[in-house]
Amino acid sequence: MTLHVLRHVGPALDDPRLVDKARWRPRGPRIRCPHCAWEPRREDTWACACLHEWNTFETGGVCPACQRQWVETQCPKCDTWSKHLEWYADDETPTT
Ligand SMILES: [Zn+2]
Ligand SMILES: [Zn+2]
Repeated sequence: MTLHVLRHVGPALDDPRLVDKARWRPRGPRIRCPHCAWEPRREDTWACACLHEWNTFETGGVCPACQRQWVETQCPKCDTWSKHLEWYADDETPTT
């Protein structure tokens, strides 16, 4: 399995300089980890199996370099893998 190759490589910890960008939304719904509610920022990037690094939420989980579709995304904060679609908080609906 090469599932864990898609790993977070950007800044995971809160950076005071980036606080005002915390509300970044690529499209529509808020994005957060279904498990710990961590919210990715534009500066956060993930690495594909092809070694390309990009923000997976800007492309809906598709690597722009090799077109691989990643159906699960790992949270850099709690290290939990969740379905990419579950990261999109449509309606502020609690997941538990
Ligand atoms: Zn998390
Ligand atoms: Zn790739």
